[in-house]
Amino acid sequence: MSEPGNPKAQMHRLLPAMHGVKKQHLPTKICPACQRPFAWRKKWERDWENVKFCSERCKRSAKP
Ligand SMILES: [Zn+2]
Repeated sequence: MSEPGNPKAQMHRLLPAMHGVKKQHLPTKICPACQRPFAWRKKWERDWENVKFCSERCKRSAKP
């Protein structure tokens, strides 16, 4: 009986930490093109401050 008996604690232990970033900690923004929220992505890790659109498609559609 060494288990703490906490389902959340057990689940947390089972989740792989391969990404190093917990989903609930990911910052989000609202895309001005499609008005949908989008979350931080690995590919934006160096440029998140400058990211305004959820996708290249929205980025292109917003620019003339
Ligand atoms: Zn968008």
